[in-house]
Parts: sequence; structure tokens; C-alpha cells
Amino acid sequence: MADPPVVGLPPVDGAPLSRRAGAKEGRPASVPGMRILIDPERCTGHGRCYSLAPALVEADDQGHGSVIGSVVPDDQLAAARTAASNCPEQAISLVED
Ligand code: SF4
Repeated sequence: MADPPVVGLPPVDGAPLSRRAGAKEGRPASVPGMRILIDPERCTGHGRCYSLAPALVEADDQGHGSVIGSVVPDDQLAAARTAASNCPEQAISLVED
């Protein structure tokens, strides 16, 4: 069964979508085009995202969610959805290109 294409908020055109982006080396295979995004204008630093999806999001120096890599590995899709659905600020989006 196919995964739903979009969960959460739509991306903001041209705006920075996370406080830090960039893939780490040695990451597992990923689903092409599935990305996790954090809207820094909405994130207030509750920390649920990096508690629920520590392979995808980490805390920045102010406790806000920071995406570790923009592409979600296939074995992290459930964690990404859990993080997005549990963000109290609805700051997390999963977008399939
Ligand atoms: S759960 Fe939402 S509000 Fe909290 S740190 Fe993560 S993105 Fe920000």
C-alpha cells in the first residue's frame, strides 16, 4: 500500500525549513523524495520530534528541532509520521516530491 504523499503543513516557499540541514554520512537507504521539514517560524522547542524520531531530528543549541537529513530513510518513515503528528505546533511536514 502506498504511503500518503503529504502529512502536516505545506512547505513555505523560499523560507528556511530547518535551522540546520545536510545529510550525515553513513545513513541508510531512503525513499526517493520523502522529506521531513520543520518550519522554524512555528517550532517552539517542545522536543517531541527529537524524542520520537532521534534518527531524523536533533535539538539545536536552543532546544528547537533540527532536521539531520532532509531525506527520510525508509526505515524511519513511521518515526517521521509519529513526530509530525505529535508536534504541538504543527511545525513538521512530510513532503513527497
Ligand atoms: S516537536 Fe515541534 S515544536 Fe517541538 S521541537 Fe519538534 S518541531 Fe519544534
